[in-house]
Amino acid sequence: MQEEINGLPQRAKDKHKENKKFFSKLKKKPPRHLDREMQEIHEEEFNRTDCLKCANCCKTTGPLFTNKDIERISKHLKLKPQQFIDQYLRIDEDNDYVLQQVPCAFLDADNYCLIYDVRPKACSEFPHTNRKDFHKISNLTMKNVAICPAAFNIVEEMKRRMG
Ligand code: SF4
Ligand code: SF4
Repeated sequence: MQEEINGLPQRAKDKHKENKKFFSKLKKKPPRHLDREMQEIHEEEFNRTDCLKCANCCKTTGPLFTNKDIERISKHLKLKPQQFIDQYLRIDEDNDYVLQQVPCAFLDADNYCLIYDVRPKACSEFPHTNRKDFHKISNLTMKNVAICPAAFNIVEEMKRRMG
């Protein structure tokens, strides 16, 4: 798995032009059953993918934290929201709360999330490949294929089925 992850940025770069063309076509004319098709491709890929052998999202990017996330997680950690913010978060260039550093402080040595049950919404939804109207997040997806091997495979499968 680590070898696959190491090679991912280059593979994503090699596919970038093709992906851009594909998503621009998809945006203009999304297939009628896109949501259903994405659900299927997403499930097939994640049946094969073991995130515990990867955790590259937690190691390299981390999520943004909404106010609800902050409230829920700080309560779980028995901290005041401001204490949690001071200890773990910073504000990024888009004015969002993000991790102060990666790998995420809540990732343990075996790739388990120490706050799994209360983790940020963005973590539970990553890489967003089963969300509705998937064609509307193509810019984000084109970034995610360089981080997430599952997202990379999902986009390849989409092109095979719909390209
Ligand atoms: S979501 Fe993607 S990047 Fe994150 S652990 Fe799973 S396969 Fe790896
Ligand atoms: S909160 Fe958990 S799932 Fe989210 S980045 Fe940190 S370790 Fe990963």
